Amino acid sequence: APDMPSDLEISRRAVLRPMAEIARAAGIPEEALEPYGRHKAKVDPLLVPPRSTRGKVVLVTAMSPTPAGEGKSTVTVGLGDALAKAGVNTVIALREPSLGPVLGLKGGAAGGGYSQVVPMEDINLHFTGDFHAITTANNALTALLDNHIYQGNLLGIDPRRITFRRVMDMNDRSLRDIVIGLGGPTQGTPRQDGFDITVASEIMAVFCLARDLADLKARLARITVGYTYDRRPVTVADLGIEGALTLLLKDAIKPNLVQTLAGTPALVHGGPFANIAHGCNSVIATELARNVADVVVTEAGFGADLGAEKYMDIKARAADVAPDAVVLVATIRALKMHGGVPRTELGRPDPAALEAGTANLGRHIGNIRKFGVEPVVAVNRFPTDTQDELDWLLRWCRTQGVQAAAADVWAQGGGGPGGDELAALVLAALQEPVDFHHLYPLELPVAEKIRTVAREIYGADDVEFSPQALRRLAEITAGGWDSLPVCMAKTQYSFSDDAALLGAPTGFTLHVRDLILKTGAGFVVALTGAVMTMPGLPKTPAALAMDVSPDGTPQGLS
Ligand code: ADP
Repeated sequence: APDMPSDLEISRRAVLRPMAEIARAAGIPEEALEPYGRHKAKVDPLLVPPRSTRGKVVLVTAMSPTPAGEGKSTVTVGLGDALAKAGVNTVIALREPSLGPVLGLKGGAAGGGYSQVVPMEDINLHFTGDFHAITTANNALTALLDNHIYQGNLLGIDPRRITFRRVMDMNDRSLRDIVIGLGGPTQGTPRQDGFDITVASEIMAVFCLARDLADLKARLARITVGYTYDRRPVTVADLGIEGALTLLLKDAIKPNLVQTLAGTPALVHGGPFANIAHGCNSVIATELARNVADVVVTEAGFGADLGAEKYMDIKARAADVAPDAVVLVATIRALKMHGGVPRTELGRPDPAALEAGTANLGRHIGNIRKFGVEPVVAVNRFPTDTQDELDWLLRWCRTQGVQAAAADVWAQGGGGPGGDELAALVLAALQEPVDFHHLYPLELPVAEKIRTVAREIYGADDVEFSPQALRRLAEITAGGWDSLPVCMAKTQYSFSDDAALLGAPTGFTLHVRDLILKTGAGFVVALTGAVMTMPGLPKTPAALAMDVSPDGTPQGLS
């Protein structure tokens, strides 16, 4: 909207409440708070007494997004604020943003408009240093691994069969494939290596799935780093470094407490990508939120085919966090895009495209029902939406038998009236019984799990495994890992592995190019299509608009 200040301006003008007050609102005792500056604090879950009742979980997910995002974080924050305003003891649980998208294409991830978690500039930059700690733990592992080989290689690790890569929290395509150890005998053993983005790393996944420090250490110990010359797997435990890695993460593992613009407590912790990793905030943060609040509003990344499916099949298996209600965010813009309108023209009314685009939303609605949960659709209202378009979409939702409300929390804030109807629908949904179940049983072989997700969630006819993927499947079966869940790596723009195939495609084959066994995280990553574990920067990165004034005030963070 022309008269709407930027997300950063709104955040900067906000008068924030003292952290002790936010902790009190969240039911967190002050002695559990470890302040990081004035408006961020870590919370030690061990100093929060257990409660006999556990809060209900509202999972916010979305239809297949446009590149800008459909406002899941914005709606998550606005809904949390609206519930708090209605007198419900609410805590929001979100992921921490990665610097890759912040400096690259997508911008920040602290919500938007008047529905943000603040201070947004801190949250979007280095925050409390968790990602640096995770990056450091990852690269301590690789340094110790290469040193093991250099110092005589007692374990007999084959440098050509190391599967664990270095990471950094940046989009840097030139580091995808590199050669290390050049320069002669005292410079290490030359081998091919590469960097992934931190948010795709197994350390991040382990960090977000661990229930406590002991579980974190056990998971770190189980990570497979590569294979010996006689093809036996080598783990972190074999290297004897799980203690050091856990030590490096001992503070990062405590959830970060911040507030929304309306003063609702929010735990922002962990941040695996949803297209190449499992896409949800840490189990520890969600569990802490359930322990202190009556309702927890949390988010799973990208579209429901990725984030929500992984929430249900991976996170809800690692911990008791199955959703009691699901909010599916839709936008008129994304519907028009899925109905064939080019991205530059999404602001113009086009009833035929809007109707055609409902095929995408409709498939996501059906998919959520497959987990035994009835979704509530939240239409995130954009300034370009007309009342006719919104009315038409709400009527369409009724014909699908699904509850729906327009949410105007970006422009009004969840503290205004814009989120009231959605909050009321969610509270009503929380009264309904839920028959939650996972999509597939763990006993199914990995290939069949992939096929089930491809057919049931994506609408694929079948799955094609590359020769490399078939070799990996055989190794996974031989190694006794067939009972792990799968973590699909797929483009967020399409149900298929082809980003250009919009709407609700049918009659396609899903191409699995490779499989990566993550024995610490406890899942098998299936790489489909062209999705990459180290993204690149776009031609005009968001960084070009960024600056900081002499007094330290940031500029150009969206
Ligand atoms: P997601 O979580 O789905 O990726 P975000 O909540 O991060 O999406 O929002 C993406 C961007 O869109 C943010 O810059 C946000 O300010 C903007 N945005 C979200 N909702 C609206 C809205 N209703 N109107 C205008 N801009 C919006």
